[in-house]
Amino acid sequence: MNAAQSPAPSSNAARLGPNDHRSVGGQLDLFSFHDEAPGMVFWHPRGFALFRRLEAAARQLLEAQGYAEIRTPQVMRVPVWEASGHWRHFRSGMMELGLDKVPAALKPVSCPGHLMVAGRRPPSHRELPLRLAEFGVVHRNEASGSLQGLLRLRQFTQDDGHILCADDEQAREEVARFCAALPAFYGAFGFEGLDVALSTRPREHAGSLEQWARAEGILAGALEDLGWDYAVQVGEGAFYGPKIEFALRDRNGRAWQCGTIQMDLVMPERFGQVYVDASGERRPLLMLHRALYGSLERFMGLLLEHYGPALPPWLAPVQLRVLPVGEGQLAYAREVLERLVTRGTRAELDEDGSLSKRLARAHVDGVPFQLIAGAKELAAGELSCRSASGQRRATAGEIIEGLVADCASPKFEAQRRDLATTGAGANLRP
Ligand SMILES: [Zn+2]
Repeated sequence: MNAAQSPAPSSNAARLGPNDHRSVGGQLDLFSFHDEAPGMVFWHPRGFALFRRLEAAARQLLEAQGYAEIRTPQVMRVPVWEASGHWRHFRSGMMELGLDKVPAALKPVSCPGHLMVAGRRPPSHRELPLRLAEFGVVHRNEASGSLQGLLRLRQFTQDDGHILCADDEQAREEVARFCAALPAFYGAFGFEGLDVALSTRPREHAGSLEQWARAEGILAGALEDLGWDYAVQVGEGAFYGPKIEFALRDRNGRAWQCGTIQMDLVMPERFGQVYVDASGERRPLLMLHRALYGSLERFMGLLLEHYGPALPPWLAPVQLRVLPVGEGQLAYAREVLERLVTRGTRAELDEDGSLSKRLARAHVDGVPFQLIAGAKELAAGELSCRSASGQRRATAGEIIEGLVADCASPKFEAQRRDLATTGAGANLRP
């Protein structure tokens, strides 16, 4: 997709919330920035582990939905960017360099690479829709004054994906299917509301009016199949096609556009994308671009601004801390820790300082669960568990089972129902 670092975070620039993600990132030791690489992130171990959890969540949904993951080159020669339209419309945002003394540029998007993979031979109608995805590291030459932590970077990771379809009906079904999975996906991060908008033909655009009416009809039709309400942003589409945009609201009421699905009227033709139909004829393909996060880095910025250090348990860098009250419970605490780590949770032991100091430290470090092992707990084979929802005491086995479930990553289901024909959107309304 060609969209600027979607979405333009300029509206956030002047009014960062009480949790500036940069200071929360420092507090949790997640990442840093250095003058040696302006606008690019140095990930620390805990931050990169969190980054990979975001990646894993999206990858799990991609796999459930039948995408194949690929990887395409970081640098490509200029004719590719001429064909994609980036050289004409986006050159100032691209980082140029030579490749064998031939002009080339770092990729600002992954789309052309995907079309080169998809077009290595024309797919058969039986292989459609063809779904390709990439966690593409992209570079954009943003002005130094506009850089803003994770929210606007020169190097970031786009969860880019493309769906190649045979006809309008297939495209409409794919759009509905992509949208239908979004409430559960964002819900796993604690975001309940979803603002949906359809952005239509801008004044300056490629393609004919007929093509635009058809593409806008496909996107609007999918939203109608789902029974979703949506706003229309007249003239806000990309020059190459209309798009549906999804915005989340953080706890300060700010809207963050994250997900998007776009219909591309330009690139399939420029890259000569065709498929072979049932009678052996070559026919043009339809192309959709889609993303859940937009930028993984920016989405992490949103999470940190929304939650501060107190991330949901499945995302928290440290999920549990075991706190023995005294020396006498140290062996018991170590045994509990081992059981928790063996069960796949991110648990630590903290025996340094008074219990109240350790509880305060767990709060600052955003650790959602603290397990207190005192003399009474040890004698009864129990644990006291403290969290934002209060304190409870139960047998060690019971507490551990409950925490393993509370700390597990969500599982996303594929939306295999035929939404276009059943109209089963009512209960999926965002
Ligand atoms: Zn794309």
